Amino acid sequence: MRKKQFKAESKKLLDMMINSIYTHKEIFLRELISNASDALDKLYFRSLTDDSVHLNRDDFYIRITPDKENRTLTVSDNGIGMTAEELENNLGVIAKSGSQTFKNEQGENENADVEIIGQFGVGFYSAFMVSKKVQVISRAFGSDEANCWEADGVDGYVVYPAQKETVGTDIILYISDNTDEVNYDEFLDTYRLTALVKKYSNYIRYPIKMESETSRPVEGKEGEYETVKEDKTLNSMLPLWKKNKSEITEEEYDAFYKEVYYDYEAPIRVIHSKTEGQATYNALLFIPAHAPFNYYTKEYEKGLQLYSKGVLITDKCADLLPDHFNFVRGLVDSEDLSLNISREMLQHDHQLKLIAKTIEKKIRSELARMLSTDREKYEKFFDAFGNSLKFGVYNDYGMHKDELQDLLLFKSSNEEKYVTLKEYTERMKSDQTAIYYASGETVDKIKMLPQTEAAKDKGFEILYLTDYVDEFAVKTMMQYAEKTFVNICSAEADFDTAEEKEKLKEDNASFEEMFGFMKNVLGDAVQTVRFTHKLKTHPVCLSSEGMLSADMERVLNSMPGNQGVKAELALEINENHPIAEKIKDLYASDREKLTRYTKLLYGEARLIGGMQIDDPTEFATLVCELM
Ligand code: ADP
Repeated sequence: MRKKQFKAESKKLLDMMINSIYTHKEIFLRELISNASDALDKLYFRSLTDDSVHLNRDDFYIRITPDKENRTLTVSDNGIGMTAEELENNLGVIAKSGSQTFKNEQGENENADVEIIGQFGVGFYSAFMVSKKVQVISRAFGSDEANCWEADGVDGYVVYPAQKETVGTDIILYISDNTDEVNYDEFLDTYRLTALVKKYSNYIRYPIKMESETSRPVEGKEGEYETVKEDKTLNSMLPLWKKNKSEITEEEYDAFYKEVYYDYEAPIRVIHSKTEGQATYNALLFIPAHAPFNYYTKEYEKGLQLYSKGVLITDKCADLLPDHFNFVRGLVDSEDLSLNISREMLQHDHQLKLIAKTIEKKIRSELARMLSTDREKYEKFFDAFGNSLKFGVYNDYGMHKDELQDLLLFKSSNEEKYVTLKEYTERMKSDQTAIYYASGETVDKIKMLPQTEAAKDKGFEILYLTDYVDEFAVKTMMQYAEKTFVNICSAEADFDTAEEKEKLKEDNASFEEMFGFMKNVLGDAVQTVRFTHKLKTHPVCLSSEGMLSADMERVLNSMPGNQGVKAELALEINENHPIAEKIKDLYASDREKLTRYTKLLYGEARLIGGMQIDDPTEFATLVCELM
């Protein structure tokens, strides 16, 4: 029999499959099962209008038959089948949709093979990743003849008449010999095959059957077992997410989540939605109750499982989730993406983008709902994943801040409980013009900041920012409800009346020389020295002048590759504290002593602000001298 040549692209693809070093060769089974399922669909639809089909919905099946002795694996279906002509047309060239993507991708990308295989499969030819020879014996519906298509490499295929009693297709794979790298035997193993069906094809709507051996007690003979062959359906067929919400119990959702996503704890929230319109899809999403152990490591990958008509396309589709919702787990199943169309998505992935956009919205509104209806749960959620939201506000130059700001929680000076920005602004005092916050390593350290006194005295609530991302997020938002965020340790935090401000300005002006002297003592450590009214009992504090607060300096400098950034600081002295008179006296009588006092005051301000002393030895010596 003369071999017929494959079309050029098919040859290239086939060659790629035969020589594939792709590690997930296992996906060939998913591809063949999907093709079988399509063939069953075709005959089933036909049966709806054509009485000669003589098959009911329940009669359709896919069967997997491993034969260890002959090293073959057969995937059969009783679907529509193919005529000799169809065998040639369908299997001699890659299906149009596939080939188009393949051609385009090949030109641009060296790694295209791995990507195409991994994400979207490559249809029938993937069989050659695990086989040295493939036979397709098929009998088309309405025909009494069967034919066999056969190929064992790139140099061509043959089609010849064959025997087949029933309508449908048998794909017989002659499994490759084991190599040092790959143990092909696994594709003849019933356990392995069962696992593969469950992983990739669990929700195919026709039963996928396999005969497997099980051992069971012999009736009437205690302690004796016999091995019997049993037909088993490997797939569960009905995807949970395709059922009506009202028919699914909480336990079912929880069990599904735990089983599929390997979590011991039930999710804190289940989002199950059907969306129709521009993008038609089913989404089943879960918000875990706790962060997975690798959440804060580089290993953690965000993403949702992507199904097309119940067939798993990819286990982690990262594009479906924005970074700020990277903690969400779950899946999306879209009817719009048949396995064929899905390949096209590689180029035209606007469909996927559309889905991602609506999913983002959905998650956001569900979180907002949880916040307003189940505060306790939301706070638990926020403890686990709040950081992601705060990063989301700060990332991409604040692009998402408007959507995320109402989902944020901060601890505050009001009973140290969580507060939303909305709650904060709504209960602001009438004479309060800004949203005040303070940042530091812990709430306790923040509470000790001298600058908190004046704000608290005024009855102003202070947000306590203790996460290193907090202040960056706040700086990105700049405002909320037209109120500006103000760090109480910055020069902007000024609670004086206009009159008091004027007086302070005058006082500071009249001691300009003295402050100039003190600033010289401290050198670059501070920008300026001045009197302040913002302290009550404390004598001194350090306030930040520019964009960068002292705490941001601490955070930035603790990061790897830091560039030794410096916040611009002002040493502020409590004008109403006895120390103010003392330094005025010393400036007039003993400059040498003032020099030492200035250093002491600066060191004290650092300590109380939760910062480290620049020169601890000098500081200690000065304290001793004083004693
Ligand atoms: P795709 O499935 O993406 O169209 P394939 O290369 O997997 O591409 O298959 C090519 C074509 O061969 C299919 O479109 C279908 O018409 C036909 N085919 C494959 N497997 C079967 C089968 N089991 N029964 C009937 N037709 C099949």
